[in-house]
Amino acid sequence: MNCERHPDREAVAKCNECGAPICAECAEKTSVLRESCGTLCIDCCKSELQGIADYYAAKKSRRLRNMILMTVFYIIGIVLLAICGPVGGGGLVTAIIALAAVVCCGIGPLIWVANRHKEAHDAYEERNGVTYNVQSTWDGNVKVKRDKGDTSLGFLALIMMAFGILISPVVIIITLIGTVNAAKSAKLYNDYIATLQ
Ligand SMILES: [Zn+2]
Ligand SMILES: [Zn+2]
Repeated sequence: MNCERHPDREAVAKCNECGAPICAECAEKTSVLRESCGTLCIDCCKSELQGIADYYAAKKSRRLRNMILMTVFYIIGIVLLAICGPVGGGGLVTAIIALAAVVCCGIGPLIWVANRHKEAHDAYEERNGVTYNVQSTWDGNVKVKRDKGDTSLGFLALIMMAFGILISPVVIIITLIGTVNAAKSAKLYNDYIATLQ
């Protein structure tokens, strides 16, 4: 049997996904995925790598969007904080503006914690399939619910929100670095796919 892609070459293996015969050169080119997927043909290797590239691209877009949201809310918070003295002149108005400022500054940490949880959950699902929680209800019955995350992260978010004025810039920078890293990973995979002919 000859290689599906190179009809003049003898096949040395079969693709683990689609069963197509593969020559030694094709097998060598797709060897990056051998450990996780077995020997693949060029097309199956490409689509597998494309899936990973798309995963990182989506991660990058989500982080970028989060970073913009965090920055906008932080700027609004700081502006509110700056004007609450001169405009409010003490009293109730000042208190309301100050509260709004604290809430705006706290949105950054909230988004960051929520996204961290989402990414951790995605990673868990990838390794172990969908996660479910078994819960018992007050009447003794058992309910199985899709896992929505753990409450300790909620407490962490609350604490971080309370110090949002200081923590927001930190999570914005962390998200920026994360966005760049995800973009780099997506590019790396796309570049590698382009070399597979
Ligand atoms: Zn294949
Ligand atoms: Zn070949």
